[in-house]
Amino acid sequence: MTMKNIYIALGANEGDRAANIIQALMLLEEDSDINVCLVSQMIETEPVGGPKDQNAYLNAVARLQSSLDAGVLLERLQAIEARLGRVRTEKWGPRPIDLDILLVEDEIIDTPDLQVPHPLMHQRFFVLAPLLEIAPDVRHPVLKKSVAELFNLLVGK
Ligand code: ATP
Ligand code: CA
Ligand code: CA
Ligand code: CA
Repeated sequence: MTMKNIYIALGANEGDRAANIIQALMLLEEDSDINVCLVSQMIETEPVGGPKDQNAYLNAVARLQSSLDAGVLLERLQAIEARLGRVRTEKWGPRPIDLDILLVEDEIIDTPDLQVPHPLMHQRFFVLAPLLEIAPDVRHPVLKKSVAELFNLLVGK
């Protein structure tokens, strides 16, 4: 069983947003198949897409280590979302917690239920800014650029 480095995004815009992110990280660490290695700071961002008049988001990213298959990892993340009270309603609607898989080593996955790297990660400030903090040199296996390079392209530097 080889341990893989995995990056996930955490986002919350309902309830006690910081508590929801911390709770999700604690539930991830409680999973004996998952180690939470490193967590970025939380940043507050305005919602992108979805219904108008949503609360601002708190966003963070984390580096995990796990040997789980990415599809199984997604199920574990979705179970934590459900435990924290997430009910799936409208697309990009408000939620107490959203857990997305960003990168799984240099795996490329393209199935109906799971795309890795996350297809929008390189377009999202709320993903790249915290990722820049904890993983500037990690490379995107499709775009063949580091997180720092993707961040600079996004912000126009
Ligand atoms: P976005 O993906 O644009 O951030 P979202 O997070 O609001 O949107 P959700 O409603 O949380 O979207 O998830 C919709 C579906 O996306 C999930 O049921 C899951 O099967 C699928 N999905 C595909 N790739 C991923 C991924 N890398 N991480 C998490 N979910 C994914
Ligand atoms: Ca653990
Ligand atoms: Ca998301
Ligand atoms: Ca999601």
